[in-house]
Amino acid sequence: TARIAQGAIRVHELSFAYDGAKTVLHGVNLAIPAGAFYGVVGHTGSGKSTLLSLLLRFYEAQQGQLQIDGIDISTISDAEFRAQLGLVPQEPFLLAASARENIAMGRTLSEEAIIAAAKAAHVHDFIMQLEHGYLTPLGEGGAKLSTGQKQLIAIARALAGQPKILFLDEATSHIDSETEQIVQIALNELRGKVTIVAIAHRLSTIREADQIVVLNHGRIVEQGRHQDL
Ligand code: ATP
Ligand code: MG
Repeated sequence: TARIAQGAIRVHELSFAYDGAKTVLHGVNLAIPAGAFYGVVGHTGSGKSTLLSLLLRFYEAQQGQLQIDGIDISTISDAEFRAQLGLVPQEPFLLAASARENIAMGRTLSEEAIIAAAKAAHVHDFIMQLEHGYLTPLGEGGAKLSTGQKQLIAIARALAGQPKILFLDEATSHIDSETEQIVQIALNELRGKVTIVAIAHRLSTIREADQIVVLNHGRIVEQGRHQDL
């Protein structure tokens, strides 16, 4: 069965409507090389999360092609898909469990793997400052985390699976600038190791992206480096 070896993404003439009536994406074309860091920006409702949802197979597009490493994504097995794609959602969900368990998420992972993922997400120091370190309960009844901190945990959770592709949907709700900067640093360091598609609400988060894609009403209206836009 088809394997995702590199993590290159190709979107060809993609159009989509949730209800078959109002078209939300119109003929989107995108070619993201393996290991590249792409940012996606655009007004609320412009279709950013929808584009990620289609790449993640949450919905099926009415028109167009979606490929990873030249393979039609619909032909990739669920196991392979889950193993190679990581998602950091807009509002990450934390289990009422320890930091360790929140990163492992039921997977059998070594202590080293969990710590390495937390370090890559720049959340290790934060976890070590909690009362019981990696054993500190998070989520319900545990340490109260800000949305930004939850996103950092979610980045560690995604990276712990060593995916080839990382999708990040930056939290819309208030993220303090310190946490936002940590996300920015983490993403920059991951460049070349994992393909990154990061939806951003602040341009600063993706200032260093290889390419920034601007969506407007479901169309790509601009694409380039930060200094060119
Ligand atoms: P934001 O910056 O607010 O997160 P976005 O760019 O991610 O916005 P989408 O969530 O992709 O925008 O929404 C694009 C359009 O699709 C909007 O008009 C939205 O109302 C609509 N939409 C989003 N999700 C659904 C859904 N599950 N069912 C029907 N319509 C939806
Ligand atoms: Mg969104």
